[in-house]
Amino acid sequence: MAKLSQVDLTDLNRSMEERTPQELLAWAASIFGERVAIMSAMQKAGSVVCHMASTAKLPLKVLFVDTGVHFQETLDTRDRMISDYGLDVITLHPQQTMAEQSAELGVLYLTPDGQAKCCDLRKTDPLMQATSDFDALISSLRRADGGRRGNVPILSIDTNTQTLKINVLANFGDQDFNDYIVRQNVIVNPLHEQGFSTIGCNRCTTPVLPDEEKRAGRWRHLGPWAMYCGINPTDVDRGGSPAIELPGDLIDKILGRNDDFVI
Ligand code: SF4
Repeated sequence: MAKLSQVDLTDLNRSMEERTPQELLAWAASIFGERVAIMSAMQKAGSVVCHMASTAKLPLKVLFVDTGVHFQETLDTRDRMISDYGLDVITLHPQQTMAEQSAELGVLYLTPDGQAKCCDLRKTDPLMQATSDFDALISSLRRADGGRRGNVPILSIDTNTQTLKINVLANFGDQDFNDYIVRQNVIVNPLHEQGFSTIGCNRCTTPVLPDEEKRAGRWRHLGPWAMYCGINPTDVDRGGSPAIELPGDLIDKILGRNDDFVI
């Protein structure tokens, strides 16, 4: 095993800016084969990535964490990704139902510390159980969503999951994004039409007003003390140049190193 750090990706990230999301998906499939999957919470951006993978007939699995307290519309969207787009969606579950968790630990999501614990138990832990099967994960973060996502690189090191995150929509602007959805008639979670700009668990997500930030509807009941769930590394503060361990030959493939010149 060898180390791959965020700094190692600097030149590659620069060249990746020229590629379309579809080209980035094809690159991911060609480099990682079965060891890469799309992560989707069945929101609009995830649906766009799923549609692109389906249209290009890329053999990419989709990971969906079912927290047990999703809106029915989210589960229905997941089912349509399977039936209409023919995708292999792997649904991940927490160990306990929300009722079991609340009986043992109380209603966690009502306080900032409890919310962090609840997100760990219901989102992060199930994802972690699956990530040892993957070297890379494809996310649908977009810089246009602002906040800490405003500077997300296309390739980012995620030390939590020990994977390379490939943010294929990072530089997909609002106009291109919305045009793609309309032109391609992408299946979109119907909650977006009801004022939900982002969609998570039904306990912690509300619609937003037109003049509110896109993520204002997440953990609204916690006010300024709301935490991010930690699933996306750009949502938590990090310093330095994080690194993960991957097979050396895979790192060579990622970085496009050609060993023909070695004497
Ligand atoms: S979003 Fe709310 S209900 Fe869902 S896992 Fe996090 S704290 Fe729990």
